[in-house]
Amino acid sequence: MLEVDNIAAGYGKLQILHDMSFHVGEGELVSVVGANGAGKTTTLRVISGLIDALSGQVRYDGEKLTGLRPHQIVRHGIVQVSEDRDLFGPMTVEENLILGAWTRSSSGAAAELERVFELFPILRERRRQAAQTMSGGQQQMLAIGRALMAKPRLLMLDEPSTGLSPKLTWDVLKAAQEIRDSGVSVLLVEQNAAQALAIADRAYVLESGTVALEGSGPELAGDERVKKAYLGL
Ligand code: ATP
Repeated sequence: MLEVDNIAAGYGKLQILHDMSFHVGEGELVSVVGANGAGKTTTLRVISGLIDALSGQVRYDGEKLTGLRPHQIVRHGIVQVSEDRDLFGPMTVEENLILGAWTRSSSGAAAELERVFELFPILRERRRQAAQTMSGGQQQMLAIGRALMAKPRLLMLDEPSTGLSPKLTWDVLKAAQEIRDSGVSVLLVEQNAAQALAIADRAYVLESGTVALEGSGPELAGDERVKKAYLGL
């Protein structure tokens, strides 16, 4: 359903992505792992329309997304949670969540809010608390919850483990699996390869702006090159 086809992209004269191709099927959880600077965030920015591709195409359900503006891409059901989470710190948890529903009618928002509270009960408990007073893990859950308020068909997570302990990272990644199980496709970009491969249906290893390896999560986690380069084994 999401097809990224031979994308080249970068910043000014600096080309970061070269011939980048991969896909995410309906209801799949796909991880993209790679070292710092491999181009993971840049890939998500191209899909979200935050930067333009120099060549290649992004298609969604066969429809071309390349060239559309970010708000148009959100309306196609593709929502990104950025690495820095972009929460409104002084606003409450609930207010942050409601803002995520800007593309939708207010009647739909109430049902969605209930679903987010079921997925992350801590957000219900803290709904009147300012977002900035929450822990790192709770803020990540809030950022994901806010993205879900837009009722995405494809949720893209940029390094959700940033700043989190391995235990909290598991909590967040388990939530990503639940989201997948509820029928939303998930594209997870992570430097933390061990955990990202463990939960993925399929995965890609990104090196120097292009796909170097692909396979199922367990296949890649067992690959000697991946073990040496990314799993510290
Ligand atoms: P990270 O874990 O650091 O986020 P990444 O795989 O997501 O790694 P990108 O953020 O896509 O990598 O960055 C790839 C390269 O692009 C890096 O060398 C980075 O310095 C450069 N880069 C990223 N953003 C910009 C920008 N706005 N302007 C210029 N160069 C950038």
